[in-house]
Amino acid sequence: MSFKIIGDDSVKSMPLIGVSCGIDYDKGFSYLKQGYYRALQKSGALVVLLTADEEGYENKLIERLDGILLSGGPDIDPVHFGEESYTFNGNISPDRDRQEIELAKLAFAGGKPILGICRGIQVLNVALGGTIYQDIKTQVNENKLLKHDQDAPVWYPSHSIMINKESRVYECFGEETARVNSFHHQAVKDVAQGFKATAQASDGIIEAIEYIGDQYAVGVQWHPETMWEKDNMYLEIFKAFVKACSEDK
Ligand code: MN
Repeated sequence: MSFKIIGDDSVKSMPLIGVSCGIDYDKGFSYLKQGYYRALQKSGALVVLLTADEEGYENKLIERLDGILLSGGPDIDPVHFGEESYTFNGNISPDRDRQEIELAKLAFAGGKPILGICRGIQVLNVALGGTIYQDIKTQVNENKLLKHDQDAPVWYPSHSIMINKESRVYECFGEETARVNSFHHQAVKDVAQGFKATAQASDGIIEAIEYIGDQYAVGVQWHPETMWEKDNMYLEIFKAFVKACSEDK
């Protein structure tokens, strides 16, 4: 006997997107803020949460997915970009580092679209050979830095970015400047080979990167998942990603 749970064939054309989760080691939880998966669902995707399981699991998972979203979270262990950890590096999540770096490499190699948000832009960059600042306040001239760890509400755009016209981020905003929120003490330093910086704050901090070729691999340093419910313009980045995942199906 067979039956249909969903009687609508259009579901077959919806891309299946995996989103990486945070890990609470004390409580034994994996978790994800609602803004991520709701934004993807609103943009027409089916969403599954990707838990950090045993090594090799990513190889099996990636085959089924049409794209991956690398979500926000704690700092990457600098060992992944060839550095020791300084005192100003923050919390790390070793299983998540391993899982997400592997996922990013596999998705990229397999031509599957990738969207990295906050920690996700950093994971994407490091996984593909770039580096990041462990702490911008220490490693960049602090007097010239904007406030990238805003105290304002999560949805509030607290600093400007300048956007490269030849970029996917520009296609989302339709303007060469935009305002975004900011909750990071790290940032992309050396952009991975084959990628380019596509948005910067006025202090020079890189706020977006993307792959130069046709493949969709985009990272943003801000948090659109906490902004789109206030202002639909910030949903565009999710819509563009979901569209890329649909086209590559
Ligand atoms: Mn910022």
